[in-house]
Amino acid sequence: MTTLNDHQPLVTSATSGGVDLATSRTFDVVNPATGGVFAQAPAVTAEQLDEVFDVALTAQAEWKLDDQRRCEVLRAAVAAIEGRVPELARLLTLEQGKPLSQSSGEFAYAAAWLRYFADLEIPREIVRDDEQAFQEVIRRPMGVVSAITPWNFPILLAMWKIAPALRAGNTVVVKPSPYTPLSMLALGNILREVLPAGVLNVVAGLDPLGAAMVSHPVPRKVSFTGSTAVGRQVAVAAAADLKRVTLELGGNDPAVILEDVDVETVAQSLFASGFANNGQMCVAVKRVYAHESIQPRLVEALTELARAAKVGDGTLDGTEFGPLASAPQHERVMSLVTDAVSRGARVTAGGSPLDRDGYFFPPTILDQISDGVRVVDEEQFGPVLPVLTFRDEADAIARANRSEYGLTASVWSSDPERAADLALAIDAGQVSINAHAGAVLPNLPFGGHKHSGIGVENGPWGLHEYTDLQVIAGPSRRGRS
Ligand code: NAD
Repeated sequence: MTTLNDHQPLVTSATSGGVDLATSRTFDVVNPATGGVFAQAPAVTAEQLDEVFDVALTAQAEWKLDDQRRCEVLRAAVAAIEGRVPELARLLTLEQGKPLSQSSGEFAYAAAWLRYFADLEIPREIVRDDEQAFQEVIRRPMGVVSAITPWNFPILLAMWKIAPALRAGNTVVVKPSPYTPLSMLALGNILREVLPAGVLNVVAGLDPLGAAMVSHPVPRKVSFTGSTAVGRQVAVAAAADLKRVTLELGGNDPAVILEDVDVETVAQSLFASGFANNGQMCVAVKRVYAHESIQPRLVEALTELARAAKVGDGTLDGTEFGPLASAPQHERVMSLVTDAVSRGARVTAGGSPLDRDGYFFPPTILDQISDGVRVVDEEQFGPVLPVLTFRDEADAIARANRSEYGLTASVWSSDPERAADLALAIDAGQVSINAHAGAVLPNLPFGGHKHSGIGVENGPWGLHEYTDLQVIAGPSRRGRS
């Protein structure tokens, strides 16, 4: 299906029931490093979803039965991914822009996540077992899961859904973002070799296909990662059929830097957290509140790091930051920076796109900026870091909380206990001390407060979101041989 100018041996057809899903239409996939179309992705139609959900439903009847077998098959899937990382990573870089090493890292993390769930024990929960009664709480799979993902981490965020959903005994239909469909399609093709037919189905298409996956009658659960605006639409559509939802949505993560920090050390860590994946990361630091006594030195240190950053084509050695992932994203970042400058912000590094083809925008630091400017108040989701000042800690915390979002946050101090006290006052799903999003791990719950989401992913808590509880209650089982 795919035609690539670059050498590209991977097949990227849609997978349904363990085989290619024949499609008659395609859509363009753009390489953000050139701005040119480099491949065609298969466009699955909403009508074809009937067939796809049908095979997923049929496959689930058997997949749900044997817990031990599921673990073994998922371990085989880990090995299948690990054996193909270099070629998969190249495809991810071509469609998403991130440097090759980071694309490889994304597949390695995805494999690690899958391994965690393959090895996760699901203990029996016997609540009562005495002479009078036996009561057990069972976690049953829900059936078929619709998984819908964004373009910033197309593989890892899909695996956050696929791994727990499959481990719990569900089957999955996953749809990557139309900006980055190829790497997930290719992974689906590879995983066919180890997963029973119909257990993991990968479709691709434009946004209406996502909407059709929510309204379709077969899936009982929708797991969505994307913007808050679309998450709202998903919640409304799912409610009509009382489908369960997990929504991982936007963020506008604050970092609060107290006056007692070592500025140079903090700057390095903040820079890494703010600009990883070009800031196109739900858990990137998006606004910094620095105590007024250290803010100028922090701006200086961040500026130095930003100016030294190597921005370029992600397929080339030495590139630290690739292009932004798409033209709309590039335009949005430019417009937010232009708006900030018109409101009096001072650009100390970056600030305008690179003069070349592709969607390149260098790491940008903004000084002399305050709350109320769009780049501070909105989720910019790009390589721009506004560095604000505060005098009073309580004021900093209030401003950190003054957002519709509550995904992750951080507090930085040489006194971790003092920082922990402040962390408790921040309304977010994870608040890290002296790091940002310092514990996004397979075994810890990850999710947003307020408009950053509903429910969590990861750990047993994330797995539970793919199960319905059932109580089995009966007479005592004591004394029976
Ligand atoms: P998006 O909401 O535009 O799209 C996400 C996915 O939803 C895509 O696959 C898209 O095709 C599909 N979609 C679009 N309309 C739909 C509809 N009506 N019904 C069902 N599906 C539909 O988001 P994006 O631009 O791809 O990603 C960026 C956003 O994702 C940012 O807001 C970011 O914060 C968020 N995000 C959140 C997390 C998290 O874990 N909280 C992680 C990464 C990204």
